[in-house]
Amino acid sequence: MKFNTKVIHGGQENIDPAYNSVMPPIYQTSTFKQSSPGDHKGFEYARSGNPTRTAFENALASIENGSDAIAFSSGVAAIDAVLKLLKSGDEVISTNDLYGGSYRIFKTIFQGFGIKFHFVDMSMASHIEDYINENTKMVWVETPTNPMMNIIDIKAVAAIAKKTNLLLAVDNTFATPYLQRPLDLGADIVMHSATKYLGGHSDVIMGALVVNNKTLADRLFFIQKASGAIPGPQDCFLALRGIKTLHLRVQRHCENGKKVAYFLKNHQSVDKVYWPGFEDHPNHSIASRQMDDYGGMVSFTTIKDTKESAVAVISKLKVFTLAESLGGVESLAGHPATMTHASIPKTEREKTGVVDSLIRLSVGIEDIDDLIYDLDHALSF
Ligand SMILES: *Cc1c(COP(=O)(O)O)cnc(C)c1O
Repeated sequence: MKFNTKVIHGGQENIDPAYNSVMPPIYQTSTFKQSSPGDHKGFEYARSGNPTRTAFENALASIENGSDAIAFSSGVAAIDAVLKLLKSGDEVISTNDLYGGSYRIFKTIFQGFGIKFHFVDMSMASHIEDYINENTKMVWVETPTNPMMNIIDIKAVAAIAKKTNLLLAVDNTFATPYLQRPLDLGADIVMHSATKYLGGHSDVIMGALVVNNKTLADRLFFIQKASGAIPGPQDCFLALRGIKTLHLRVQRHCENGKKVAYFLKNHQSVDKVYWPGFEDHPNHSIASRQMDDYGGMVSFTTIKDTKESAVAVISKLKVFTLAESLGGVESLAGHPATMTHASIPKTEREKTGVVDSLIRLSVGIEDIDDLIYDLDHALSF
């Protein structure tokens, strides 16, 4: 099956044995009747499994080319589950420019349990090798990175990880499997905040992991059950519905994102624009190799390099909504330094380019003329 068919049918055979409904019912139940002890239809207690959740998990596994997906109540809960594969004394090598919440759970939760994190510039994959020692167990990659749109060569990192027996986890939230399939490139675990493009309508908080290895899947299903950060059936239904239009939405996100990126690049009030589709983006050639298009996320700074100027631009926007999050049908604008990345110390974030004047856009699927008009108006100073 091709991708655009898989988003609709992948993993969805025999979805409702009772009545053959085309979409799975929302099984709003905590438990399932057993005809005699241990004799049941595959579901016992809804923390361990729920058919609506299984339908979502199978759909996601299909489009990421994995054997299994494991759903969680948020993206951060999915990250939490990955880190629970580790034990005290283990070390993780992570990208240095990453989602603020990932940095926060690494530093303020798991570091306290004795896991050590190295934050490394992975624009050259070989940089990782300097940090590998006998305690290293995992490499954590986010690409494109948030909010600087750096691109990391998944295949090159996977080769290093394989050679030294490290697990490679890739946060694929920004790209989605429509643009990039990390398991095909050698990653062991794909992580999603399904809150973003997978759900796609800004109406659900959810996360997931995808793997292509039964032992790893079994361990993660065990952590899902044992730690219990599971999504409810209604959320699984919404995220599954989102997946059915993922290809159409992300295609339009990419088209609009490209037009916004070029518009900003040519605007006199704009200084830098970060978008992996530009030929002068430092890792453009890797992006064009490992991604099918460049996504709808664009970050930029204005020529007035102050927090006030960024705030002034954002507050003039009318179609773009000032809000955290991304990947929904509507365009959003954010100020990373005070919003998504506020949990990262100023000196740390400025090292990676997250300066006070940086604005991050999640370009939605509205009419492009309205988006350009809105930006042009906000940038007239
Ligand atoms: C939002 C996000 C997360 C965290 O997901 P939640 O669903 O908010 O818990 C992780 N990684 C990236 C890249 C994100 O954008």
